[in-house]
Amino acid sequence: MSRIPWPPILGFGAIVLLAVLAPVLPLPDPVTMDVAHRLAGPSLAHWLGQDEFGRDVLTRLLWGARVSLSVAFAASAIACVAGVALGVAGGFLRGIVEILALRSIDVLLCFPPLLLALLVVTLAGPGAATLVPVLALVYLPGFTRVAYAGVLTARSQDYVEAMRVLGAGKGRIMLRTILPNIGGPVLVQFSLSAAAAVVLESGLSFLGLGVVPPAPSWGLMIGAARATMTQAPLLLLWPCAALTLTILAMNALCDGLRDAVDPHPAYRPPGRRWLDRLTPGLLPATRAVLDLRGLTVRIDTPDGHFEPVRDVTLHIDAGETLALVGESGSGKSLTSLAISGLLPGAARVVAGSARLDGTDLLALPEEALRRLRGGAMAMIFQDPSSSLNPVHRVGEQIAEAIRAHRPKAPAATEAITLLKRVGIPDPAARARAFPHELSGGMRQRVMIAIAIANAPRLLIADEPTTALDVTIQAQVLDLLADLKRERGLALLFVTHSLPVVAEIADRVAVMYAGEIVEQGATAEVFARPLHPYTAALLRSAPDEEGPPPEGIPGVVPPPFDLPKGCVFAPRCVHRAPACDAARPKLATLPDGRQTSCLRWREL
Ligand code: SF4
Repeated sequence: MSRIPWPPILGFGAIVLLAVLAPVLPLPDPVTMDVAHRLAGPSLAHWLGQDEFGRDVLTRLLWGARVSLSVAFAASAIACVAGVALGVAGGFLRGIVEILALRSIDVLLCFPPLLLALLVVTLAGPGAATLVPVLALVYLPGFTRVAYAGVLTARSQDYVEAMRVLGAGKGRIMLRTILPNIGGPVLVQFSLSAAAAVVLESGLSFLGLGVVPPAPSWGLMIGAARATMTQAPLLLLWPCAALTLTILAMNALCDGLRDAVDPHPAYRPPGRRWLDRLTPGLLPATRAVLDLRGLTVRIDTPDGHFEPVRDVTLHIDAGETLALVGESGSGKSLTSLAISGLLPGAARVVAGSARLDGTDLLALPEEALRRLRGGAMAMIFQDPSSSLNPVHRVGEQIAEAIRAHRPKAPAATEAITLLKRVGIPDPAARARAFPHELSGGMRQRVMIAIAIANAPRLLIADEPTTALDVTIQAQVLDLLADLKRERGLALLFVTHSLPVVAEIADRVAVMYAGEIVEQGATAEVFARPLHPYTAALLRSAPDEEGPPPEGIPGVVPPPFDLPKGCVFAPRCVHRAPACDAARPKLATLPDGRQTSCLRWREL
């Protein structure tokens, strides 16, 4: 752990220390009443005043912290152990274990957390002994899903394959290779659950379903202070402030831990890093680098027109990779060409907007768009052999890209620096080479050097690894991921390969017949696809351990002959009469995922 988050550790550590030391500090007893001085204000003897029974407020705050934190940590620890065991077993053993583990979690997820807690506490009776198992049950699914998604991602990595090649057994691979890789996300989930458990415990105590009086609890203190709010408003302020400060400290700690345990932290502008930690969600979110809304492309023909890309809406933030995935003919390459203003002559954008850092690209004149290409917006194409000019040395080609946007820059020197940055050995000598003197992987690295030469905000990579063998492909993906993190690039990765998506993308948008049919975080989409097309794509991806992949029966319908209802209906095994009635729209679910399948709940 190289970047220890000292400020949140010290802040939260101080709160924990005060709570632990409460019994030995020179403070009055938390339950001893002094009704003669009820609702007395702050004094030298009682720094924060006395409550409705004359008890010392400061003492009750510190003892309340003991209760809240011990309930929250005990519940989170139980949920962590049980949830991780379920997720790891499901993700690693697969088969019936996976079905049982995930379906039991799905059942729990059907109940809103607060309602589940209320139900169990009402049946079992209030008290800290009931709260711990109830909160553990509420937060268990989060751990299961994090562990399950982590195992699924880790098991497809090359280093796991390398362990298999070395002859390591399943247990050893799990303990030595997979578990250490999901440790970071699980740790973050733990701190998130503990923070949420503090709030839920206080809420239940406030409702009279948590800690039993006269034991001190922040929720009970808030509930009691509400009744005397007009006479002693400070009594309401102290427990609310304690709760808020504790949650802020835990959130900051959680964010700091995530950065510390993640070897590849997400890019965030340095100026707002700490503000984000202290007030997560309160600051306006960073504006998306790329923001597409309702993008529709039309092709005119002598017999009329058709729309091969319809109503595409997506966004990419700085330091984020979005994979646009789908079969040939799904419209993903046309979408990326529309963004960069490079559509073929017969095609034009007829609806929607495409904003790059707030500027609508579709409204720009060609000259302004030309200045953006290769500058703020760069592209890498599939085949570097045809993208590099065969009669010019590669160093000259990089320098030319630099001079096109920055005429006074020391282009030759920068070209060598860029070649070095993209991992080309002996860059000064390679800069003098012609493209045919380099390997396919090196040529693609040169293309990447050209693309990043003018510090783009958006990098569009259209199948950039398809022409490369598997080893070089992995190296190029690593390079792109490093550049994205280091420079805060928004990376739009167009591909048909699901293993590549798993390797590089934070989020994935699945396209079919010109529409986005599903969108969400990669791990979530891979673990629980919500559209039958995504599920079929996943089943058709090769898996060295599972059964031979199933193809998807049928073909993508041509854009001039689309079905009236769901575009996937002719190939969908779940097709119902409602699917043919009208074209379903992409729906956004409460957790932010999107699907256009009408039957996603049932399936
Ligand atoms: S809407 Fe109907 S036809 Fe379309 S994917 Fe969903 S179930 Fe299949």
